[in-house]
Amino acid sequence: MKLDANMLRYLSKEDFRVLTAVEMGQKNHEMVPTQLVSAISGLRHGGSYKVLRTLLRHKLIHHENKKYDGYRLTTLGYDYLALRALCARGVISGVGRQIGVGKESDVYEVVDEEGNLCVCKFHRLGRTSFRAVKTKRDYLKHRSNYSWLYLSRLAARKEFDFMRALGESGLPVPEAIDHNRHCVVMSIVEARPLSQVVRLSDPAKVYKQIMQNMVDLAKLGLVHCDFNEFNIMLSDEEDITVIDFPQMISVKHKNAAQLFQRDVDCVVKFFTRKVKYSPDEDVLGDLAYPDLDDIVEGMDLDDPSSLDRVLKASGFKSRMHEKDGSDGDGSSEGPSDAEDSEDDSLFGSDGEGPSPKEVLESFDGIKLREGADGDEPSSSGADEAGDLD
Ligand code: ADP
Ligand code: MG
Repeated sequence: MKLDANMLRYLSKEDFRVLTAVEMGQKNHEMVPTQLVSAISGLRHGGSYKVLRTLLRHKLIHHENKKYDGYRLTTLGYDYLALRALCARGVISGVGRQIGVGKESDVYEVVDEEGNLCVCKFHRLGRTSFRAVKTKRDYLKHRSNYSWLYLSRLAARKEFDFMRALGESGLPVPEAIDHNRHCVVMSIVEARPLSQVVRLSDPAKVYKQIMQNMVDLAKLGLVHCDFNEFNIMLSDEEDITVIDFPQMISVKHKNAAQLFQRDVDCVVKFFTRKVKYSPDEDVLGDLAYPDLDDIVEGMDLDDPSSLDRVLKASGFKSRMHEKDGSDGDGSSEGPSDAEDSEDDSLFGSDGEGPSPKEVLESFDGIKLREGADGDEPSSSGADEAGDLD
């Protein structure tokens, strides 16, 4: 995939209006019928058809007529919707080179309006298998119907919230600048992933910083769950910055101790095998091999200001929630649907006619070909996710 920010300039307001209509239609249709695209976008049928051709040519949407004639966004289409929104808000003005490819993300350098370099992380949860996503990301909960767009957006939102809160608590993380859909914009870390560092001048200092960080996180109520040499950035001065948070959980999660231990083990393994440094308990004390139970002992786990609770990290369920029988996880809430999709500048607000949302809600009455009323992809639709690209 190539992201060319110039394309944002070539695409017209109508193009984006139709692209947004496809996105909105996907809230309850796996493939969005042409009629619905026309109805949401408010363009005449012929008008929207012409625009759909343009979007298809640029690979921003995908067309299928297996069950019925319909369209869905491609990954690129979703990227452009997010980039357009971030550009319109003045958060970014251009996209540069790709600096990271993860299993579940693409990371790009971007520039803001003043020309400062920042980073934009595009979450791509559809890239791994359904099973992997489901096991790793507890916040899917009991949702059997969901879309990959929704999952990536949820991950971005979680990452942004965690990053902002951790930064405000004084932890060394990138500055959370903004987010839209599946994208998180953050400050750039002038450092290399620890995994690429061959020699450390002071391994004990780096090891101590890392473990202290894990302890500080736990004291705020959180376990990172992917704390390893790939998600720890190291500057030339050997100071660390921690990245990559969407999977963080609460210290009250039933597997918290185990996952904390796994994080500790990853770091220990990296230091003993790659750096050839073995932590010395005489020098480091409890920081040599931190233990979650020791850290949380005496902590008020129901403290309303603890971050797991504030951020609704997976597993934060408190005694209070258990009593009133509510789930307390909050993980099924997700971002509000209206949040990103409805762009007033695209749809106008003259008060005439139904809003795109109203059209969407009433569209279920329009008869499609039998057995093809286009629900969101169910779990069996997971295979489909791979071809979002
Ligand atoms: P993933 O979830 O795919 O592992 P990460 O958040 O770990 O994504 O980012 C992938 C890679 O992108 C990182 O290993 C790092 O090299 C780079 N990266 C991510 N965020 C930043 C940042 N703020 N500054 C500089 N590089 C970054
Ligand atoms: Mg990572």
